[in-house]
Amino acid sequence: MRKLALLGGNPVRSTPLPTYNTLGAEERAAVNAVLDSAVLSQFLGAWTPDFYGGQRVQALERAWEAHFGIAHAVSMNSATSCLYAAVGALGVGPGDEVIVSPYTMSASAVAAVVYGAVPVFADIDPATFCLTADTIAARITPRTRAIIVVDLFGQPADFDAIMALARRHDIKVIEDNAQGPGARYRGRPAGTLADIGVFSLNYHKTIHCGEGGIAVCADARLAERMRLIRNHAEAVVKPKGETELVNLVGFNYRMTEIEAAIAAEQLKKLPLLLAARQANAARLSAGLAGLPAITLPFVQAEVEHGWYVYAIKYDAASGGVPRSVVARALRAEGIPVGEGYVEPLYLQPMYQQRIAFGSGGFPFSYPGYQGKLDYARGLCPTTERMHFDSLLYADYVHAGLSEADVDSIAEAWTKVLGQLAQLSGLPA
Ligand SMILES: *Cc1c(COP(=O)(O)O)cnc(C)c1O
Repeated sequence: MRKLALLGGNPVRSTPLPTYNTLGAEERAAVNAVLDSAVLSQFLGAWTPDFYGGQRVQALERAWEAHFGIAHAVSMNSATSCLYAAVGALGVGPGDEVIVSPYTMSASAVAAVVYGAVPVFADIDPATFCLTADTIAARITPRTRAIIVVDLFGQPADFDAIMALARRHDIKVIEDNAQGPGARYRGRPAGTLADIGVFSLNYHKTIHCGEGGIAVCADARLAERMRLIRNHAEAVVKPKGETELVNLVGFNYRMTEIEAAIAAEQLKKLPLLLAARQANAARLSAGLAGLPAITLPFVQAEVEHGWYVYAIKYDAASGGVPRSVVARALRAEGIPVGEGYVEPLYLQPMYQQRIAFGSGGFPFSYPGYQGKLDYARGLCPTTERMHFDSLLYADYVHAGLSEADVDSIAEAWTKVLGQLAQLSGLPA
């Protein structure tokens, strides 16, 4: 075996992994056409035909509906805005609870907080890293008003079981599919598996337009409520004749024509970009098969993973060295790796100190809230174990990587995991 780079040997890679650029001549031409039109946004926060935005924004929405086979797509300036609008459209308010995963980007849970509701964190499944019907069921109370399920790392959660549970309890479900555009569950596109689905088009996602998001749903009323929240609802309800005012307080969540034009080109590339990710993931899994102390990503039956990142579970007890040492050894070989994803959300200061809006503790200590909050360490043991002890991950699969790049990742992992004994005794 070759000497580990961390111990002075030559690294597997002497050049960084290539970066990922999906933008090309198509996006450039689309942007130039918008510039030539001189209309960078056509939205107007008033009840006129321009309430629904300009030609590119609307074209993107129709293309998104056709691509994902869903009745309504509502574009916004981020997936965060989409999550907020979705929670608002469902009528969630102070006193309500929203069940959500703690292992996700922070906005998934803040979507509840901005409407004065409290997030109730359910644990993830150790195989998929997503919520399950069982972990959700353990958190349902008479106050549960909505559930936000995240398709973490691009793998759809087990939505048939989750939706059956939610229907029995008459609770609405939002699918945060920011990470998995193009993934599929039992033949259906991820993002369309719940009452409302959310996609992200931010710079880090599989397809992007800088900043952007799309909310989708089958229900025309919910879609229209999201369009109102997107664009100054309170100024529009009277001329439009809207009478159900709950949560029809508006924001400016509008996407510009340039972003919409880029996103429309990116959507056309999604099948190819995803196929490249899937091929890279399969190649990497073959290259890592049989290595000691790790568990490769698990993909549920009848699921096509979206492969936002490639997440490996490391077992320090069988490896004999701390996770941080393995990560250091991999980095020394020229291979990036992250230790854990985001800290379980309930450990953030906002939840620990219960301070969000104002100094009085709203919404956590709102007198109209009758439940009992728990944000203590230990609340979601699987999430904490994955985060603090087990997960090693990176974007080892993006479409900018060649087969040789993927093979170099497998080679570095093989080199490091094959010589863990050499690393014993190194400080964590
Ligand atoms: C990226 C992401 C978001 C937020 O997306 P933005 O478009 O940046 O607002 C929300 N949820 C998850 C799971 C994400 O990964």
